[in-house]
Amino acid sequence: MHKFSPLLAVARELGASEAALIDPGEIVIRDELARMCLEPRCNGYDRSMSCPPHVGGPEAMRKWCREYHRALVFLVEVPREVAMSFERNEVLGLIHEIASGVEKAAQAMGADRARAFAGGSCKELFCSQYAECRVLHEGKPCRNPHLARPSMSGHGVDVAKLQALAGWTLPDPKEKPKEGSMAHFTGLILLA
Ligand code: SF4
Repeated sequence: MHKFSPLLAVARELGASEAALIDPGEIVIRDELARMCLEPRCNGYDRSMSCPPHVGGPEAMRKWCREYHRALVFLVEVPREVAMSFERNEVLGLIHEIASGVEKAAQAMGADRARAFAGGSCKELFCSQYAECRVLHEGKPCRNPHLARPSMSGHGVDVAKLQALAGWTLPDPKEKPKEGSMAHFTGLILLA
């Protein structure tokens, strides 16, 4: 059993449908995916410390993937209707919650460099009632340090390839969905 295997149970207890340990050296990082945050411009671009241009981007992620020994990938599966509804933000909030929870558990095990990534803008998910991100605009600490984590897409992570690396065969989101189909959301924690 790998020393980080107990974290798989932590991810599931926090709400993940699946979790797997992978080799971070195999994570596919594509510059063009990170560029899509700017063009077409995402609503989260330049609105928080978790999204471009305020994150390290693909270059930093490549460096971390060389430095870290293991990565935990998790999946949250929900009915497609939920993913397309107002409940989508709740699911994205859960991705941040699981990612930060696993990061904290890893740190408690001694992996103090554990680094979690989620998806979706933390400004929209956790600070929508405020005009601005407190870190960016006031130079003060984040209002939600226990939850908000940087976006994988802002770092160019190919999420479909990440899911395949974890051994999950999932429907192509570009294909027309079948009735009753499920949607999948993913988070990542680098471990060292
Ligand atoms: S203060 Fe709010 S918007 Fe800024 S990084 Fe923290 S959670 Fe995100």
